[in-house]
Amino acid sequence: MINKFYIVAAVFLFTAVVIRSEPVFTGQKAFDYLIHQTDMGPRNPGSPGHQACLDWLIHQGRLLADTVVVQRFTGFNPYGDSDIPMANVIYRYRPHIKKRVMLMAHWDTRPVADLDLFDKDLPIPGANDGASGVAVLMHLAELFKQYPPTIGIDLAFWDGEDSGRPSRPEEFAQGSRFYSRNQIEPVPQKAILIDMIGDADLKIYYELYSLKFAPKLVTEIWKIARDMGFSDVFIPLQGPMVYDDHVPLSGKGIPSINIIDFQYPRAGLNYWHTHEDTPDKCSPQSLEIVGSVLLKWVYSQ
Ligand SMILES: [Zn+2]
Repeated sequence: MINKFYIVAAVFLFTAVVIRSEPVFTGQKAFDYLIHQTDMGPRNPGSPGHQACLDWLIHQGRLLADTVVVQRFTGFNPYGDSDIPMANVIYRYRPHIKKRVMLMAHWDTRPVADLDLFDKDLPIPGANDGASGVAVLMHLAELFKQYPPTIGIDLAFWDGEDSGRPSRPEEFAQGSRFYSRNQIEPVPQKAILIDMIGDADLKIYYELYSLKFAPKLVTEIWKIARDMGFSDVFIPLQGPMVYDDHVPLSGKGIPSINIIDFQYPRAGLNYWHTHEDTPDKCSPQSLEIVGSVLLKWVYSQ
């Protein structure tokens, strides 16, 4: 009798565990991917770290996605070489399904530390500005492999986002610009960019291009964040206007928003585009909050 009870209880427990199994975004797993990238050194186009990171992105994609598209193109660095091989890497899930969304981040890092006081002409580590967005996408890729969403997903890793000179938007976002002119069918109906979301002191305000291009999507994301208890991070107030990878896409028919914490770390102190953009200024918790919101959004589509 007792044995039978234990068997029934074990079966019940096992069933409950299986039924309740759902994807959970783990900040530490994403943070390990952030460290993996900074360990390669700066990933500015043309550098050894850039080549290593490209190889890693392609290798991971073959393990985790249904198909991987590598879009190679020639970019430029206004601070250096005029012709540099660059590549966008796009992980596709259910590549034939028309109903699809895109999540995206830039994987390159800035070739100069123009906002630092020292060594301005040396490349930055890019822990937050570069690695953080890729880290979240990479952990999402793992979860999409384990728990295939019913819609189509494109995870886009853009190259050549951060090589431009200040006040020259046409020199930035080279990879997303190339994709916008060379879109892959079926094309996603909407897209979400994440950039600089690793900041340990994370505060994300409405970005103004996003409000112009896809206001409903902005509201949707901030509402999910509120429902999950993240209103202290996703703050429902207007913030900066940041020219970023979501601008070329929105201009070519894919309404896109940017989830970005542009004040890194806070007013009066700046690590952005300096040698201080290192992993110790970022946190697993920040990656977890943004990753969890994106995960919830994808599975609610
Ligand atoms: Zn940057």
